Amino acid sequence: MIEDKEQKRTSIESLGEFGLIDHLTEGFPITQKSTIKGIGDDAAILDFNNKKVVVSTDLLIEGVHFDLSYMPLKHLGYKAIMVNLSDIYAMNAVATQVTVSVAISNRFPLEALEELYAGIGLATAKFNVDLIGGDTTSSKTGLLISITALGEINEEDTTYRNGAKPNDLLVVSGDLGGAYMGLQVLEREKAVFKVNPNSQPDLEPYSYIVERQLKPEARKDIIETLKILEVKPTSMIDISDGLSSEILHICKQSDVGCDLYEEKIPLDPTVISSCEEFQLNSTVVALSGGEDYELLFTIDQKDFDKIKGNPNLTVIGHITDKSQGANLVSRAGSKIELTAQGWNSFKAE
Ligand code: ADP
Ligand code: MG
Repeated sequence: MIEDKEQKRTSIESLGEFGLIDHLTEGFPITQKSTIKGIGDDAAILDFNNKKVVVSTDLLIEGVHFDLSYMPLKHLGYKAIMVNLSDIYAMNAVATQVTVSVAISNRFPLEALEELYAGIGLATAKFNVDLIGGDTTSSKTGLLISITALGEINEEDTTYRNGAKPNDLLVVSGDLGGAYMGLQVLEREKAVFKVNPNSQPDLEPYSYIVERQLKPEARKDIIETLKILEVKPTSMIDISDGLSSEILHICKQSDVGCDLYEEKIPLDPTVISSCEEFQLNSTVVALSGGEDYELLFTIDQKDFDKIKGNPNLTVIGHITDKSQGANLVSRAGSKIELTAQGWNSFKAE
């Protein structure tokens, strides 16, 4: 997956700013009805008719949010888009456009930016969003990427974080902890490589979790599934920081408590085996790991039959009265209060 190609290095200065923008953005089509004017003027123009507009933005900084020593630029471009689309889907909206702004230091040749935009292009094509603008500037410290995603929604379909009610079911898509364990594997290989640059890492046994870290998929499919099933979540959030902290956001904003069942938390077998290898508790990893970009939502009990048996959805608990607090119910049956850093209280068990 991580290949080191013998690379041509074309300096960015040789193209100039406008040449660079043209070059990077020329292959991007406009596909959304709502895009009236995309790249090329002072501003883009959008028309959402009678829909509400959903906007979300993120800033990614080299050394803080990504490490280019194991993150290929193509993956970074893809992931940067996913992170933003995930926020749009978490409102139950349809993502329609993105803007991409980059600050680049002179250590990046044109070919590096082409890789970044190749990843961005894969993501925009697959998720059917238009690239409608951005900004390009220089940086002294490394690479910065800022993405703004836009989406559209009918007001009555919007899912906020604050709509959960006692007795609602707590549901999560996919499985958890994979992105964090993928990061552990990549960090370990990086450390090995530092000591022995000739080492050839065998990431094959870890391909699922490494992919979860390097190439997360925003859950557009879940939003579509819920629409087909005619289930409108009462609240929803995407899992960027770990299950524990996202549950606490829903509980706090909805003014409710919850019981989360440890035994119900969906884990891929690779997560379980790598946790054993790294001597980590898989529940702690799912609670605090982050970057899984799954959706966490609550539904009314009457909708349970509609989602029951769906392999992409797992009921992991239920909402309670605020006075009950937010708890993890352990396999042994004891209740442990959830904290944003899920492991603090959990380790003390
Ligand atoms: P301005 O000088 O008004 O900021 P620019 O020359 O930066 O305009 O941008 C020209 C056009 O190219 C605009 O439509 C802008 O949104 C777009 N653009 C600039 N940088 C990028 C980028 N990195 N990715 C996508 N579009 C970009
Ligand atoms: Mg500009």
